[in-house]
Amino acid sequence: MNGVAPGKPAQWVDLHAHSTASDGALSPAAMVGAAHRLGLAALALTDHDSVGGLPEAQSAARALGIRVVSGVELSAYEGAREIHILGLHLASLAEIEQHLTTLRHVRRTRAERIVERLATLKAPVALDRVLAIAGPGAIGRPHIAQALMEAGHVKDRREAFDRFLGAGRPAFFAKHRLTIAQAIEMIHQAGGLAILAHPGSRGTRERVQQFVSAGGDGLEVRHPGHTTEDAARLAALVEHFRVVPSGGSDCHGASEGPRALGSMHVPGEWLDRQEARARERAARGMVA
Ligand code: AMP
Ligand code: ZN
Ligand code: FE
Ligand code: FE
Repeated sequence: MNGVAPGKPAQWVDLHAHSTASDGALSPAAMVGAAHRLGLAALALTDHDSVGGLPEAQSAARALGIRVVSGVELSAYEGAREIHILGLHLASLAEIEQHLTTLRHVRRTRAERIVERLATLKAPVALDRVLAIAGPGAIGRPHIAQALMEAGHVKDRREAFDRFLGAGRPAFFAKHRLTIAQAIEMIHQAGGLAILAHPGSRGTRERVQQFVSAGGDGLEVRHPGHTTEDAARLAALVEHFRVVPSGGSDCHGASEGPRALGSMHVPGEWLDRQEARARERAARGMVA
């Protein structure tokens, strides 16, 4: 059951990936090149709080004849719990960019607070080094984890999150507190579809119902963090709530492992369903 009609060549897509515009290891053009080499028909670039990689990705895609879907990954809060929402098929980047600038500013302030806290925890890292590792991208905890490794305070990223940076750990600080409704509204204003990212075992009927009631358009069904049961439940909830399916590797640049690009085998038909919904939404917007 992969959604590909008999006799039609399989078309695979990957609708969740990160570049150096946030915490990925590869440039936007390198991600597009990798997707092309894998034979993917389309790649969605979904950097955290940034659409800054999209112009480079789009121009690389034009040269190679692959499609790039304009995306972003937002963090929203439900009480203290953080959930991620993908914005896919963004039509107006200028519209969303002003909000994202604010979110990235908060990330920068948060990185400063984390660095100050690490100093009091006897694991000092230089803010300048963290900023250099992040480069032009949205600063995140993976960049700080890298600085902690370089400084010899931890042996790997996992230890950095387990001891310092993970939720509830001593150097943890939340990001900008967007509500789910605000994140969805931001995505809709930019002409995109709001997709609940990697809900996993928390993607219960009740939570999905709340997301759909708040205006959500779809669910990430295939993701490396999902069990087979998660994927089956989410696929059923997509049909029940008449929303659209999505899926992707959440690749941050690794060419091997569960998050390698293309690893989720997402059928191109899912992208077709998303595009039909984006068109409907745009048409409704015009008569409203
Ligand atoms: P941030 O956007 O700064 O909150 O950082 C979130 C990113 O850090 C995620 O997208 C993952 O790439 C990474 N991350 C989060 N939790 C962990 C963890 N426990 N171990 C390793 N990486 C993590
Ligand atoms: Zn990330
Ligand atoms: Fe995420
Ligand atoms: Fe992601």
